[in-house]
Amino acid sequence: MSDTEHTYKILILSSHLNRNGLLALLQKEPNYRIQTTDSGVVALEAVRTQPLDLIILDWDASDFRAADVIIQARSLDADMPIIVIADTAQREDLRLWNLGVDDCLLRPLGPNELLKRIAYALNIRRLKLRCRELTRENKQLFELAVTDGLTKLINRRHFNERLAREFQRVKRFGGNLGLLMLDIDHFKKVNDVYGHLAGDRILVEVARIIQDALRSIDMAGRYGGEEFVILLPETSHNGAAFVAEKLRSRIENQSFRAAAGDDLAQGVEVPDHITISIGAACMPNVNVNHPEDLVNLADTALYNAKQKGRNRVEMAAIES
Ligand code: GH3
Ligand code: MG
Ligand code: MG
Repeated sequence: MSDTEHTYKILILSSHLNRNGLLALLQKEPNYRIQTTDSGVVALEAVRTQPLDLIILDWDASDFRAADVIIQARSLDADMPIIVIADTAQREDLRLWNLGVDDCLLRPLGPNELLKRIAYALNIRRLKLRCRELTRENKQLFELAVTDGLTKLINRRHFNERLAREFQRVKRFGGNLGLLMLDIDHFKKVNDVYGHLAGDRILVEVARIIQDALRSIDMAGRYGGEEFVILLPETSHNGAAFVAEKLRSRIENQSFRAAAGDDLAQGVEVPDHITISIGAACMPNVNVNHPEDLVNLADTALYNAKQKGRNRVEMAAIES
């Protein structure tokens, strides 16, 4: 956004600028759109209802309208530049500065000074807005980088970062940490019989059920194709077994057809029931010296669950 493309909306509450030709000077600036008034009521209304980039007002401490306009503008937009025009005797008026004005121009005002100070205020305004935009964009990019596109759970890379942090915390301060590896049983068949879209629908629904069942401090991620992983901070062996069984049973009892309402209407048929197998491991455990050790223990437990017939939970042995 260059300065020449952008139009700045400037509100002027002043009778002073009108008098000595300065207003006409500002109005000649091609990218300034000026609204001028000497009515506090009109200025307040403009502040409330219009997007503005700069406010310029005559300061007169005995007249409350300027103060009202400043307070209102500040409460709506903390980054709005506000310039007051004051007499030399008023410039140290603390009330003026306490209201949060950015700059004070002294009467009599010269045209060059006025133009420069306005340009400076607008430059800062532009930079602050750009900064806000960048913060928002950064947040969006971060969300994209850590999220699995299909299920909206965190992705494997981000899960591993969170796991590393939780692992360090438990190693340093003690406490418990549970990890569940969860894998949909015979998922290949779902794709083979119902198609890939139906498979995707099941993955989304399983992710929703997992999220729904967890506490806000738990972290669920998509680990691979039809494999999910769940981190349970401050959760003991028994606690992890309880959560795993709750998940297993919720998914076994879920009617996926009922949940797939819209997709069914669009002709995507899904199996009504599926099952999952879960392997769980917990800290403290003497065999866990790295975050990956916890994942590997849960993975081995998951393998055992599959070997023992699926649709079940297997816990890694507690070794302390
Ligand atoms: P098991 O009970 O032993 O886990 O058997 P399984 O069929 O679930 O396991 P297998 O590893 O043989 O198959 C996993 C399937 O998951 C194969 C793959 O096509 C499917 N899959 C992986 N990612 C996706 C995805 O994003 N969408 C869909 N629809 N299917 C996926
Ligand atoms: Mg599977
Ligand atoms: Mg698998």
